[in-house]
Amino acid sequence: MDTNVFRAWITSSAGVIEANRDHLTQLDAAIGDADHGINLARGFAAVLAALDAKPAATPGAVLILTGSTLISKVGGASGPLYGTAFRRAGQALGAAEDVDLAALGQALEAALAGVQQLGAAREGDKTMVDALAPATRALAKAAAEGATQADALAAAAAAAAEGAAATVSMEARKGRASYLGPRSVGHEDPGAASTVLILTALRDAAARDAGTGAP
Ligand code: ADP
Ligand code: MG
Repeated sequence: MDTNVFRAWITSSAGVIEANRDHLTQLDAAIGDADHGINLARGFAAVLAALDAKPAATPGAVLILTGSTLISKVGGASGPLYGTAFRRAGQALGAAEDVDLAALGQALEAALAGVQQLGAAREGDKTMVDALAPATRALAKAAAEGATQADALAAAAAAAAEGAAATVSMEARKGRASYLGPRSVGHEDPGAASTVLILTALRDAAARDAGTGAP
């Protein structure tokens, strides 16, 4: 996957976040402060502007610019968390011009580690970690088993979706939703839901790349 695929991923993430802005905000209205969709849509719009304005010549540079922009433009917990995730992933990719599945797996691991270092959430705490962690494991497993890029990313997106669905029955132990205690049960975590959208956009960007016959 080259720089164009990473740009396509981020552009399409911005599109699905915008299309799901009200849905994400409604999820946050149930257990938070009703701003998650608004926060992320504003952040990704700023990311698109930054990618247009500044040259990002490698996949890593695209992700670092994405992360830095999210950190500077998004208030709320999710800005620094997603920003750190993208920055760490970008740093893990280094200066590579083409990213294979193994490198992408390491980038996801780095993103997850960054989110957990900053937010201290573990799986089961009803956060974005409940989508990101299983997705990271699924990608590593598929890569180790010799899956194609398309299949590995499909497995990661599916694992994220399963993880997000599982947050419905969890009681929140981190973030604003934790203030609700047991009343947070019965609702999907908004950050887990947005993680599914972003990883599904990655799956689709990579699939379009494979469809063109690019390496
Ligand atoms: P805020 O909670 O500040 O209003 P957002 O609504 O944009 O910020 O984002 C809320 C989401 O952030 C939650 O649904 C959850 O997934 C994620 N989140 C909050 N705190 C943490 C944390 N400590 N670790 C990981 N994710 C977290
Ligand atoms: Mg919120």
